[in-house]
Amino acid sequence: YVSGSKKEFAVIGLGRFGGSICRELSQLGMEVMAIDVDEDRVNEFSNIASHAVIADSTDEMVLKSLGIRNFDHVVVAIGDNIQASILTTLMLKELGVENITVKATNDYHEKVLRKIGADQVVHPERDMGKRIANTIASTSVLDYLELSDEHSVVELMANKRIHGQTLQDLNIRARFGLNIVAIKRGKEIFVSPRATEAIYEGDILIMIGADDEIDRFEVYLE
Ligand code: ADP
Repeated sequence: YVSGSKKEFAVIGLGRFGGSICRELSQLGMEVMAIDVDEDRVNEFSNIASHAVIADSTDEMVLKSLGIRNFDHVVVAIGDNIQASILTTLMLKELGVENITVKATNDYHEKVLRKIGADQVVHPERDMGKRIANTIASTSVLDYLELSDEHSVVELMANKRIHGQTLQDLNIRARFGLNIVAIKRGKEIFVSPRATEAIYEGDILIMIGADDEIDRFEVYLE
């Protein structure tokens, strides 16, 4: 998904995580200001980001002079320096930055960031670990997106068990309370498939519903 509007971002901290965000946003055609205290890191991004600046984000005057509050979205990707990360987030919040995404290094860090009003806290190592554990633990789930503690969107591989059946035959909505929102077949994708659409082995079913119902459907497939 690429948004239609061009937004202005600032990324503070250009390590592996912040660097990757910076590269990707730039590639998506967004305006990005790349900020780091480390000169070498900043130089690395001078040709990638719209602007690359050597600056210490824990200095309020510096943040003000960069006009940080005019950015649509600021990402704080300061790695292990938890104090700097928290202080930076606090000041961004105080300066009235609309949207702040912060990388947390551990659960305590995450708790504090939420408390001081970070709009989005990400914990990439933990989240990715969780995601990979979930997909490798299951035989049919290829990918998933957590919507809440109890609901997800999952990608499931259709197998022999349901080969040739239509959505109507399967009656998944009534039996499991699950909705199939799309079917991927090779390079094709059928969004909002009709009830008469047949499913074939190897199709990828994108479905939404309660986690325990998804589990029940997985068991049904086995
Ligand atoms: P990752 O785990 O994502 O690779 P790193 O710890 O390697 O994270 O990178 C964090 C980056 O944040 C480093 O490049 C570091 O120089 C930068 N950084 C740390 N403190 C500040 C600060 N106060 N202001 C700006 N950048 C900072």
